[in-house]
Formats: sequence, C-alpha cells, structure tokens
Amino acid sequence: MSTQQKWAFAFEDGDGKNKKLLGGKGANLCEMTQIGLNVPPGFVISTEACLAYLEDTSHALPTGVMDQVRAEMTALEQKTGKGFGNPEKPLLVSVRSGSAMSMPGMMDTILNLGLNQDTLQGEIRATGDARFGYDAYRRFVQLFGKVALGVPDEKFDHEFDEVKRAAHAKQDVDLSAADLKDISERFLKVVEEFTGRPFPSDPYEQLEIAIKAVFNSWSGKRAVDYRTQFKITPDMANGTAVNVCTMVFGNRGDDSATGVGFTRNPGTGENKLYGEYLVNAQGEDVVAGIRTPKPLDRLRVEMPQMAKELDELRDKLETHYKEVQDFEFTIERGQLYCLQTRNGKMNATALVRTSVEMEQEGLITKDQALLRIDPTALEQMLFPRLDPSFKAEAVATGLPASPGAASGIAVFDADRAEQMGRDLGQKVILVREETKPEDIHGFFAAQGILTSRGGKTSHAAVVARGMGKPCVAGAEGISVDVSRREAMVGDTQFKEGDTITIDGSNGRVYLGAIPTVEPEFTEELSVLLSWADEKARLKVMANADTPDDARTALKYGAVGIGLARTERMFNDVDRLPTVIEMIVAETPETRQAALDKLLPLQREDFRQLFEVMAPHPVTIRLLDPPIHEFLPDEHQLEQEIADLRGLAQSTRGMTALAGAMGLLHAPEETRREFDALRRTLDPMLVEDAIAKKEAMLRKVRVLYETNPMLGHRGVRLGITFPEIYQMQIRAILEAAAECQKAGMDAHPQIKVPQVCTAQELLKVKAYVDELHQLVQADYGFPVKFKFGTMIEVVRACMRAESLAEEAEFFSFGTNDLTQAAFSFSREDAENKFLPLYNQSNILHDNPFEVLDVKGVGKLMELAVEWGRKVKPDLHVGICGEHGGHPASIAFCDQAGLDYVSCSGPRVPVARLAAAQAALQQAGRKDL
Ligand code: ADP
Ligand code: MG
Ligand code: MG
Repeated sequence: MSTQQKWAFAFEDGDGKNKKLLGGKGANLCEMTQIGLNVPPGFVISTEACLAYLEDTSHALPTGVMDQVRAEMTALEQKTGKGFGNPEKPLLVSVRSGSAMSMPGMMDTILNLGLNQDTLQGEIRATGDARFGYDAYRRFVQLFGKVALGVPDEKFDHEFDEVKRAAHAKQDVDLSAADLKDISERFLKVVEEFTGRPFPSDPYEQLEIAIKAVFNSWSGKRAVDYRTQFKITPDMANGTAVNVCTMVFGNRGDDSATGVGFTRNPGTGENKLYGEYLVNAQGEDVVAGIRTPKPLDRLRVEMPQMAKELDELRDKLETHYKEVQDFEFTIERGQLYCLQTRNGKMNATALVRTSVEMEQEGLITKDQALLRIDPTALEQMLFPRLDPSFKAEAVATGLPASPGAASGIAVFDADRAEQMGRDLGQKVILVREETKPEDIHGFFAAQGILTSRGGKTSHAAVVARGMGKPCVAGAEGISVDVSRREAMVGDTQFKEGDTITIDGSNGRVYLGAIPTVEPEFTEELSVLLSWADEKARLKVMANADTPDDARTALKYGAVGIGLARTERMFNDVDRLPTVIEMIVAETPETRQAALDKLLPLQREDFRQLFEVMAPHPVTIRLLDPPIHEFLPDEHQLEQEIADLRGLAQSTRGMTALAGAMGLLHAPEETRREFDALRRTLDPMLVEDAIAKKEAMLRKVRVLYETNPMLGHRGVRLGITFPEIYQMQIRAILEAAAECQKAGMDAHPQIKVPQVCTAQELLKVKAYVDELHQLVQADYGFPVKFKFGTMIEVVRACMRAESLAEEAEFFSFGTNDLTQAAFSFSREDAENKFLPLYNQSNILHDNPFEVLDVKGVGKLMELAVEWGRKVKPDLHVGICGEHGGHPASIAFCDQAGLDYVSCSGPRVPVARLAAAQAALQQAGRKDL
C-alpha cells in the first residue's frame, strides 16, 4: 500500500453516501456539513484504516494515518482559530466511533480530548468558568480512562459518589468547581493506579491512543456479540470509522443544553418534533439517564428561539433525507449545533403511520413507503396489550419507552436473566436501575425491560425498541437493590422470582400477572397493506385449521387458506376416543363404524371453513401424520398396566377386609364412602381395564415405527387404509355440496400429502372421482372442487411432469422438503449440530427458518418448470413455515409461484414482503 492511500476525510470532503468507507455517523456528518447544517468542524478516519490496523500484528496505525490526522488537525485549528495543545486557546475534540450499520451503544466515545493541566487552565481562563473546566476535565479523564485504557467504571463511580456525598449534592449540577476539581484529581489517580503510568498529557499521544482504542473496540466482545446476534456480516459493515469532531459545549451554563430529537414521534409516528434535552449538560448525560431529561416541548418555553431553530433543522433533515431522522444536538450559549443524524428506529406503528403520512405529504412515493418498512416489524403491531377489563392497580409508573405488555418473573441482572430466561425457559422481566451495553444478553432473554432511571432515549429504551420488546424506563418509584435481588415500590417489596407485569405503552408497572389481549389493526396499516396488494404479484393465503383461525386470517387479509391440517381436527379431546376406535379397529366393519361417527364432524369442520372463507379457496390436506401419533405412549401404557395390576391386588385385599369388618357399626357416612370406593375398585372392572390397556399396548407395538417421519404416513396411510381418506374426501365434497347448493361461492381444494409417484395420486384420485359421482347424485347438484398435491418429497420434484398430469395445483411443503433435501431431521439438526454449522459458516442460516434457495429452491424451480411444461396454468404455492419469511417470499416471487401461505398473524408480513419482492423484481428489470 502506498503512502498515497487516503485515510482521513474532512467533513467538507467526505462522500456522504459512502457509509461503508466512512461509517454511518461519519458519512452523515459529511453530508450534513455539505448541505449547510451547523456541524462542528471535523474529519473522518476511514474503516479501511481500521481494517488495516486490525490486520497488522505490530499494533501500529497504518503508515500515513497519523500524518494525515495531523494535517486535518491543522486544518481544524485554522477553521476554529484554536490550537490543539495550545494553553491560550485550546482546541478540544471528541473521538467517536461509527460503522456502516448503526450499533447503538456498542462502541464508546471520548469527549474533551486535548485537555491536560495546561490546556485546562487555558480553557478556564478563556471561559472564565472554572466549574465548566473541571467538569469537562473529569469527564475526559473518565471516558479516556475507561474507553482507551480499560479502567472499570465502578472505580470512577466510587470516587464520584464519595465527593458527591461529602458535598451533600443530590445531582451532578449541584457540585461546585472545587468538588469537580477534587473529582478530576481522584480520577487521575484512579487511572494512574490502574495502569501503573501517569495519565498521558500530550494531546497527540492522547489522540493516537484514542484512535487505536476505537479501532480495537470493533473486535471487542460487545461489538462481536452484537454483530452475531443481529447477523451483521462483513459485507454489511466491516470495521469502524473514527470521527474526530471539534467539541461544542452544552455545559456552559443555563443558556446551554444537549439533547436528542426525532423528526417524528418514534412511538406513534405523529408528525411532530419529539425528543428530550438537559440544560447545562454534556454529551451522553441524556442517554445515560444521570438526570431525567425534559421533553422538547419544554424548550419552547425555556429557549423559544432555539426551539424555532430546532424546528427548522428538523425540516431540513427530513426534506433532505426523506426519512425520519434521529439526531443529536447541542446548544452552546445560544448556538445550535447538530452532532449526528441517522434514520430513526421506530416501532411498527410509527413506521406504518409515517409511511402513509409521508406519502400523503409528497415526501416519498408509494413504492418508497412500502420499501422502507422491514416486513417482520409488522409483527410488533400484533403485540398483546393488557386486558382492559382486568382491574389492576399500577404500583409504579415510568416512561412508556417501548410498547407492548409483558408479564414475567423479576430478575435483577443480565446474567440471571439469561440463565432463567434462555436456559430455564422462564418468562423474565429484566429489572435494573439503568442498563448498559454489557447487559445486552439479558435483553435477549427477557420478555420486557424495566428501569428505575433514564428517559425515553436511555440505553434500555433504545435497545428494547430496536428489539420490539416492551420497556418501561425511569420508573423512579422503584428502588432496585441488585445485591439482595429485590426491589421496593413504596413499602411493597418484590423479590427475584416474583411475577410482575409491565406495559410499555403507558409506562405502568404491576405486581402479579395480568392477562393480555390481541391488538387491533390500525387504519394506516390497512391503507399501507392495500398499497402492498396493488403492487404484489404473489397472493397471500393462510395456514388455518379452525373457523377461528380462518376468521383471523381473513382479518389479516389472507385471500384463501393454503393449508388446513385435518389432523388438528382429529386431536380434539372429544373426538380422540372415536379416532382411537378407528385406529384400533380389528375389522373393516368396526373401522367403518368409527368413521361413520367422524364423517359428520369433519363435514361440519369443512362446511364452517368454506362458509368463513367464501369466495376464497380453502385447501384441505388429507391426513398426514403417522397414525400412532394419536395413540398413547408405549411406556406410559406399560406403566399404567403395572399400576392397575398393583391395584387389582389391593382391591382383592380391600374387598376381603370389608367383608371381615362387616362395617356394621361404622357410621352411616363412612359406610357409604367405603361402599362407593369398593364399587369403583371392583376387581372385575380392574381386570377389564387391564385387558383394554393390553389390547391397546399390542396395537401400539404393531404400529411402532423406527422412523415414523419416513414411515407410514401421508398418502401411504391413505392407500393402506383407504376408508380414512375416503371418509375425509366425502366430508369435503358433501360440505362443498351443502355450501354450493345454498348459493355460497365455496372453493374446496383437496390436496394429498407425501406423494412421491403419480401412481399414488392416481389411486387417491380414483376415490375422489367415485365419491364425487356419489355426492353429486345424493345432492342432485354439480359440485366444484380442485385436486392437487403437496410437493414435499425430492422424488416428487423430479417427477413433477407426471404429477402435473393428475394435479391441478402444486403446494410446496418446504419443511419436509428441506428435511428431505438435506437428509436432516429437523429436531436433531436444531438440537445437535446446526448451531455449530451456523457458527462455523458451514451453513449460513438455519434452512428450516430461511429457505435454502440454492438447494431446496433449485428443486422447487425444477418442479415448477417441469410441471408447467405439462400444464401451463398449473397453480403453484408454498405452505411451509418459510411462506411467512420475507427472504423466502422474495425467492417464491422470482421462482414464479402464484401464492404463499403462512400462519395468520404473519399474513400482513407476507403481504408487505410480496409487494417488496415485486418492486425489487421490477427494479431489477429496469436495470
Ligand atoms: P454514540 O454513538 O454512543 O451516540 P457519539 O459519538 O454520538 O456516540 O457521542 C456520544 C455523545 O457525545 C453524544 O451525545 C454526542 O452528541 C456527544 N458528542 C460527541 N461529539 C461531540 C462534540 N464534538 N461536541 C459535543 N458533544 C459531542
Ligand atoms: Mg453512546
Ligand atoms: Mg450518537
């Protein structure tokens, strides 16, 4: 690499579009500077410098980096009229990290760099404000000590609290210049003791150490964990940039402030400036929850001119970025500076509302409105709320920091949360005074987060919103005692393991569990999804087994049922005995008798589904699972028989005893009870029960399979026990006849599972044809239906041509097809080796979650191509879990499928994903 390589870019020069090179923060600082916003001067050191540094084992910055940094610093000195290390007019800078992907709180920023004993005195002389000088200094020493030198926060906190206590100060602002001087001196000592070296005083040495520390943080545990969790791969973000930015001070008195703003409300989407600020504070104070900040509405009263300028800033940001912005600002003695902007993270409600409103305002097009929302985010809108009819008294109220309600056991630290939540599968609420980036694993394991300090932009709030988990922040009425694993609310105590409920939509906290209810569709969501339907080519159907499921699916906008599983209907507690009768039947006659009982029940199931869904199609899959799934477990049966035998022994004993005692003199009550007991323990009855269980046990053993999922199931079962499929087919056709005859536009579709050869399909089709004749004759009415097949076996894909001769539609069952294509059994794969495969990149994703486009997808493409060769209008869809997964939906669109079918609540997700797939396809064609 030559010395010509450019590592450092002034905010005036950097390419605001190149986030990979400059990081998101750096690119936006450049862009904002270039569109004329008031950004303090600075420059960006590229992510390439970071990667080159991390690759080099000598731990030196790449050649040329420090030279370019010095040149840029000189330029900063000229722009600001100050000098780096100059005691007369000291230039102070912040050193900030920022990679291509926003990783909130994952890497730390050092403020006020350039301070030492000399420049500190210069700063105090220049501002005439000793308190300010020492405040800036103690912050710098702590941040530099922590971030660059690895000194633990607690060491600083301890000294800080001691001085605060001695000064009887409640808040940081109550500390005097002398207190802060004392603190900074203690901090210097803390660092010196920890590192064994004096605190570096040369500004350029400070700068170089700081740059390296930021670079190193890219490969630190916190950042690596975050990237793993959110699947941030090197092509999305590789390395962090370093932003060196002239300091501006929000802690210069009561005409100074610092804050964060959203151009629109990130919780509701309301088109109104939203945010928080703190007067006389610096940098992270707002986010860290040191003091509870004020809402920006207050600023209109406290600093009306600044509020006006902030509104202008908001307009400029939105007009330029055409997206809701989340920005940081600082006011230094009546001057407003913008220190950062990025696209605002919003909950789903806000995303949807802003999409619809920004389109209506003419800021974005419909396509953009659809494309800016991650489809999976819509699931959040289907979050549970607390049951409003349930009367409960909130014990505390904090800020509604991330919507949704959750109950769980209180846990007071992240490790415990991980242990109880992830490892023991308990529902937990993470309760903290405030959270820090190192608590992240606790967030993953928790249902919700509750903090007693901090605002709506505190770490807890930002991270919870990003994850779509409910969060109540700054519930000041709660005092948390981590070491004793308990908390007090007023004079009530709750301990680790006690159930609590939080409502992140209104900030309320309750003791005990409170029931939740399903949320409603908003008006804006309907509008957005109607736009989606206009753009999408793929139709979205739902997997639904019951009329209730079907109604939900309709509400979510499904245009049919792509998969109704009949086994769910078999598993109903009332029906199971009849189903078992059918299975254990020794003769065709007894089997038929049981089936005759099931027929009207199934007919009614189907009739209701048709009725709810008309005029949309309802695709019913004939019975699929291995039949022994309906029978009791073998070992349990053995145990029960053994128990009954024991009982038979004691029954005989008891009867003898009763006879011997005569029980003549026992009180009336006792005698009656004893008689009743004796009757239930009649030895004959017990023997009878044993005989029945033994018969069942024999049947279970006969039906036993080594490999049930590859065994006697699906169409194989339908061929060996034709009566079962015939009953189901008859039920479907009769239900259809009833509906159609009544004038209803019912569209039944019969689909056959596990087919691997056209011969199987032919066989089932023969039943269908015969029954179709019969039913039409019975009802005196022509019955419409469609007949098709599941494609979930590798051979079925290979034989698509001949299957298409018999089938009017194909429905890919990608769960089974994935198992078959990989020869993985899902449970074993996910429990044993898939995690390792994913970690070591042998497989990128879990193919049961993300459709394996390269393998399974290839099989699907072949089946579609070959099937349509025979039948050009062959209707093709997917009904595996993948049908609700956006990336898989995009593949289905490309592969020319006609529809996807997924679970009801994922239907909105799929509708949006289908629209995005179509838009992206169109975009590709335009190129
Ligand atoms: P993060 O990515 O954690 O937000 P930042 O680099 O944005 O880190 O900085 C942390 C805090 O310090 C923010 O509140 C930011 O506004 C503030 N800050 C950063 N640089 C400066 C500066 N030059 N002058 C004043 N405040 C700054
Ligand atoms: Mg931060
Ligand atoms: Mg920031």
